[in-house]
Amino acid sequence: MVFSLLSFDKNKLTLFSDSILGVRDNIVRCDTCNNICERDNCIICDDKTRKDNVLFVVEHPKDVILFERLGIFNGQYQVIVNVSFEESWQKERQNTQSFTIDAVPDGLLGIALVPGTVAGTANIVTACGGIDVGAQIASVATTTITTAFINEAGANPTTATIDPDTGIVSIAPAGSYRIAPASVLDGLDIVGYDGLNKFATITGA
Ligand SMILES: [Zn+2]
Repeated sequence: MVFSLLSFDKNKLTLFSDSILGVRDNIVRCDTCNNICERDNCIICDDKTRKDNVLFVVEHPKDVILFERLGIFNGQYQVIVNVSFEESWQKERQNTQSFTIDAVPDGLLGIALVPGTVAGTANIVTACGGIDVGAQIASVATTTITTAFINEAGANPTTATIDPDTGIVSIAPAGSYRIAPASVLDGLDIVGYDGLNKFATITGA
């Protein structure tokens, strides 16, 4: 590389170093996914033909490039950045949001069932933010709410009721349950959340 540079004339060499500096100075993080780009949003987030209900979390911007080259993924990306202390609070907040993945658009968060403090109960929380979303799900008709939960054998509980005020779910019989996958939640008009494959042990009431 050094020998190639020595063979350039001085004007060409100045042009070359200016263009490298230009790349460095113009690179920013995409506001939506944290990928590196040259404006507020990257071309992937701007592409309206891509699926917006599938999120692929990657560690580095180079992983995005790799998967785009493979051409097998047509959803959204989220690049995780490390939480670090910055002099600018905006930058620090942006980093923190990226880390907890709460800066992504609605509809890309997973939800999980966690055992409640009282026997026979559970809470429904968003996987990343830990926000209680049980009260939102309580709007689903009580006759169909049992379909929103499955045990390790894939069976629904006999009864599942949600207190609309507290969001606390009462499930029977005792067992290991999780939230049903997104396709099932979709049928219940619970849109925008994907159930995570994480079981919670619900003890008998
Ligand atoms: Zn982006």
